[in-house]
Amino acid sequence: MRIRIVIIFIFITIAYSALCNGRIVPLQTPLEAVRYARISTSSEISRYIHALAESYPALARVESVGRSVLGHPIEVIRFSAPRRDDTLRRLTVMIAGSQHGAAEPAGGEAMLMIARELASGYLRPLLEELDIILLPNANPDGRDMGRRSNANRVNINTDFVLLLQPETRALKAAVERFAPDILLDSHESAILKRQTLAKEGYLTDFDAQFEISNNPAVPAALRDYALNTFLPALINRVSIDGLPAHRYIGEITSIQQPITNGGLTLHNFRNAAAMSGVLSLLVETKLDSREAVFPTYRNIEQRVARQLLCLHSFLKLVHERHTEIQAQTAWARAMLHHEPLMLYAGYTLNQEQPQTAIPMRRLDTGQLEQRYFPDHRKQINADEIAFPPMLVVTRHQDVIRSVLARHRIDYQTVLQPIDHAVVAMRVKTPVNSEMRAELLAETHQSLTIARGSLLIDLFQPNGRTAALLLDPRSISSIFRYPEYARLVKPEEEFFIYRASERILLDPP
Ligand SMILES: [Zn+2]
Repeated sequence: MRIRIVIIFIFITIAYSALCNGRIVPLQTPLEAVRYARISTSSEISRYIHALAESYPALARVESVGRSVLGHPIEVIRFSAPRRDDTLRRLTVMIAGSQHGAAEPAGGEAMLMIARELASGYLRPLLEELDIILLPNANPDGRDMGRRSNANRVNINTDFVLLLQPETRALKAAVERFAPDILLDSHESAILKRQTLAKEGYLTDFDAQFEISNNPAVPAALRDYALNTFLPALINRVSIDGLPAHRYIGEITSIQQPITNGGLTLHNFRNAAAMSGVLSLLVETKLDSREAVFPTYRNIEQRVARQLLCLHSFLKLVHERHTEIQAQTAWARAMLHHEPLMLYAGYTLNQEQPQTAIPMRRLDTGQLEQRYFPDHRKQINADEIAFPPMLVVTRHQDVIRSVLARHRIDYQTVLQPIDHAVVAMRVKTPVNSEMRAELLAETHQSLTIARGSLLIDLFQPNGRTAALLLDPRSISSIFRYPEYARLVKPEEEFFIYRASERILLDPP
């Protein structure tokens, strides 16, 4: 009897598969195939997306955007339906998952289910208005080695200023290649922090949190739209769809700490991507404590369900608002090389509401308790400069050249000395990353630019990023890292100058 039921089930499964565009579809993701007994390996993920793309060649294809430290390809599955009208520009949506490898695998696993639904399921109609790029496995080595970091033991989501890791460069390259209008960077966040918060007897308690690109150099209209329109709509939608959501309140590692929002610098993916005019967001869903007992491996089925709900709600909201988002990102891109740059941002105590209550769970009793935290979610911005047309690098060219190369920022080398009007400054780097750099002097002057100097024309795709990386007053400056900070001498004129106008070199 049981065998007959199994045979009928198999028959229905095959018949259903065959019906979908007349092809057999890989119906099960690797995680479903092992019944949630462990997370998928990088090669299983790769095989699955290749099989899906081969079954739907008119809709989907797999592209590699780089390789990990150990040489594994970092792949996207790219959905683009055949166009009925060539003049229509679709909104491009990108979702990246599992930057934190095996520690946060659920986003990548959920994306494989999303991929299947886009190819042949109920999400297929979204492809009339959206091109969708899924990058499920941003850190293949971390996933396969059971780590949060990459094979070099680096947290790749804090490497977007220096871009020292191949995985980080691959993510940056993917944003350049596909030029998404909107990006979602998917993460999970552990509620049990054994080394820190747990020692004080508490767990955090949340289901989903979202953050925008909050760096103050993101074009103002886009930041305003993200903060005041899109983020509240997304939080509302996810909550209505069944997962209580709120704005990201940073990582709570102590019941004594102040509460802020997400990191402000370009060292994370969401802010780095926003610098090319992308509406970019972060999602974090609850990562259950490994100490509890769950029906599936570390509660991975539930964790994937949380991610899936967030991704569904996100995609549906983006679909509904695609015209509005397109207008916002088009305007942001037009402003990238015009709008002034705010270099410094930090958090400070919100005097109007100095305390905030957050529900925390006690480790001993498992009860929820309101805990009061100093509210430091007031953002202060400072050190605004006009968008400089060019930068002139007069010393340490080798060091700067390698930074520019990693960021794919173009430059020219001066072959004959040339006089030009520049802004010179003397500046003192801050002693810690929270503080402002000190501008000691600033003068408009004529500079004889020596042979071998580098000219960086900032009217290029990564021009805004270049301006932030190379000004010591910026919170995203390379000069906040010790190996570069030593190049900034407060007693000397800083060796990188802002040109007041573009400098035209004679052709060599
Ligand atoms: Zn993460």
